[in-house]
Amino acid sequence: MSYVPYHQKDTITMLAGPCSIEDAEQMEQVAACLEKNKLSWIRGGAFKPRTSPYSFQGLGEEGLSLMAQVGKRHNLKTLTEVVDTQHIDMTINYVDGLQIGTRNMANFELLKAVGLATSENHKPVLFKRGMAATIDEWLAAAEYLTMGGNPNIMLCERGLRTFENATRFTLDIAAVPVIHKRSLLPICVDVSHPAGQVDLVPALAKAAVAAGCDSLMIEVHPNPAQAKSDGPQQLTIAQFDELLEELRALAAVLGKSIV
Ligand code: PEP
Ligand code: MN
Repeated sequence: MSYVPYHQKDTITMLAGPCSIEDAEQMEQVAACLEKNKLSWIRGGAFKPRTSPYSFQGLGEEGLSLMAQVGKRHNLKTLTEVVDTQHIDMTINYVDGLQIGTRNMANFELLKAVGLATSENHKPVLFKRGMAATIDEWLAAAEYLTMGGNPNIMLCERGLRTFENATRFTLDIAAVPVIHKRSLLPICVDVSHPAGQVDLVPALAKAAVAAGCDSLMIEVHPNPAQAKSDGPQQLTIAQFDELLEELRALAAVLGKSIV
């Protein structure tokens, strides 16, 4: 790892893709859009940590395989969430990066196991903030990952549970400059989960770029109305194309490009 602070770099890494990996056609359409836009990653969940046990739980290994195939076909790196220590080895065989979700920020045994499993290959790990965690708690938890020997960790602010219910979660945009001040780790902002609704996503994404994020996470789906999870917050491909163009113009003002 270089000790040049990450936020002095001139790129913003876009982590876009559907909430859940659902089928080959869905992944193909999203991946084609990302490749056409010269982006480098695709995201998607195969093991979904759903609030209700009756909601779609994800395709599991079949989903990982679908994502690995479109990633190869479209020259995209692949990112997916790991929710259980017993899935780590299998997941690592399919994807380029692992995500730890908000509900597992304090699952320290999972963090230790992911840190160990990535200690030699240094696969990127996207580490989301717990929805009720302070920045101190989040940074302390991140050390469970780095102490295994993988420095390739990116933090991800994704909104907090507060009294406010006009949005799904309250996006703590101040986390971006605070993390830049307190940590050498890069900071991603997931703008889809705090928004909860498509129409709020563009403003949150622009705010994240303006605040100096190193990466953005945005959910996109070819047909959000039919999505098996998080339909109301997922952009269509046309909406994503349009927003990306606006974000690129804003990033350019800051001397950055979106990759
Ligand atoms: C996700 O990104 O797929 C996800 C479940 O997010 P979070 O952990 O932030 O709810
Ligand atoms: Mn989601």
